[in-house]
Amino acid sequence: MQQYQIYIGGEWLNPSSQQWFESENPFDGKPWAMIPRCTESDVDDAVAAARRAFAEGPWSDMVAASRGALLRKAGDCLVDSAEHLAELETRDTGKRITESLPQIKYIAEWFRYYGGLADKVEGRVIPLDRNDIFNYTLREPLGVVSAITPWNSPVMIAVWKIAPALAAGNTVVVKPSEHASASTIEMMKVFEAAGFPPGVVNVVTGFPQECGERLVSHPDVAKVTFTGSDRGGRQINRIAAESFKRVTMELGGKSPQIVFEDADLESAVNGVISGVFLSNGQTCVAGSRLYLHKAIAERFVNRLSAEMTDLRMGDPFDPRTQLGPIANRAQYDKILSFIGEAKAQGATCVHGGRAAEGHDLGQGLFVEPTIFTDVTPQMQVCREEVFGPVLGIMTFDSEDEVVAMANDTPYGLAAGVWTENIQRAHRMVRRIAAGTVYVNTYRAVNVASPVGGYKASGFGRENGIEAIEAYLQTKSV
Ligand code: NAD
Repeated sequence: MQQYQIYIGGEWLNPSSQQWFESENPFDGKPWAMIPRCTESDVDDAVAAARRAFAEGPWSDMVAASRGALLRKAGDCLVDSAEHLAELETRDTGKRITESLPQIKYIAEWFRYYGGLADKVEGRVIPLDRNDIFNYTLREPLGVVSAITPWNSPVMIAVWKIAPALAAGNTVVVKPSEHASASTIEMMKVFEAAGFPPGVVNVVTGFPQECGERLVSHPDVAKVTFTGSDRGGRQINRIAAESFKRVTMELGGKSPQIVFEDADLESAVNGVISGVFLSNGQTCVAGSRLYLHKAIAERFVNRLSAEMTDLRMGDPFDPRTQLGPIANRAQYDKILSFIGEAKAQGATCVHGGRAAEGHDLGQGLFVEPTIFTDVTPQMQVCREEVFGPVLGIMTFDSEDEVVAMANDTPYGLAAGVWTENIQRAHRMVRRIAAGTVYVNTYRAVNVASPVGGYKASGFGRENGIEAIEAYLQTKSV
């Protein structure tokens, strides 16, 4: 079994506890890696290394153009390591290799984009109402950034944070999820290979209470950028508030997909399937509430069910597999309990609805992709994030009605609108309270396009120019 180390101040180290915990492969059910069980003292060491790198040495003296060049080099090094990192993520999380490999290759663009942006951060000269004072602004980095990430897409989400933070001149300590740490640990070799000075990027691993909270409360951490559950976000936000830390929160969602009677139904069916099922629902923007116009509802459900029958479950390393296992046992149990509750509350299960077993599925944590109709707005399956392959379907008559239903949620991460009517599309975009609204597509991601939540889905934005702003502060001179 592979035994990993943490990366602090440019050195590979054992955790000070000398303890490790197992990471399990969700396809064969076997432990495959030993992950360092860090404590507060490892966090203190990592923050101290990051603080030193920020305040003294080559990184603190480096001009923005050179930081940008290093970031672009990291992009090339990431491409070189993409196969290895994708294999680790597939083994650790069950994400299909046909999804993890292209995703990690594409993530190089984040290093290139923010590498290009690093030397375009400019202050202003302010025309004051007097002549004897010359006033200008500097845009300065914050200091040490804690980046805390979830188990779905660990490399991608870490890079969404690390690349803009470094472009702005900060240093970073990353803590990946205890359920999927290996790929983030291995990614540190990308920064080594690119030639980043020691301490600029560090990684610690372990559990929220044993090490995660220290990364939030540490007095030398200037900013916490968190992606995860609203429960974790609430705790972190509370701790960060004690020391007035800046915070970015990328939280969960219960995103609606809305299909009008004039939509291209074939595209909409494909969009609904890829929006919630092809990632096993384990993506923050999973389109898990489907609103169908009554005129097409029955046709749409029949077509959707027919397409789903052909989806192939299996080994996430097999390129023919369309649905891999659920990423970990806790999540698997949670999904099955959601399905049980939806049935108990009176929703009608028209597809799936059980754990999946079979010759090709081994000991894997498989759940059948599941569709419920007769869902009401009060049901748990309509209100709470499942983070699994479960879709609840409701119907509507009018735009007003569907807008009210779609917005009747504490969340506001994403939404999908399917219509061929351009006026209606623009009307709907304005009326839906969500950080991203897709029109006639779903789950499209681009480095230049900001993402983030409205309402309980969080605050702050990642990607695009907005993300680098989140790692800067303004000094007036
Ligand atoms: P989680 O909140 O359980 O854990 C996320 C990370 O936070 C882990 O590294 C965990 O160890 C750490 N953590 C949790 N509590 C902490 C605390 N009190 N102090 C310090 N660290 C703490 O979330 P998860 O189950 O790993 O991820 C799934 C969630 O992430 C879903 O809700 C999903 O919607 C959300 N997510 C959001 C986005 C987005 O961009 N909005 C993207 C991906 C995932």
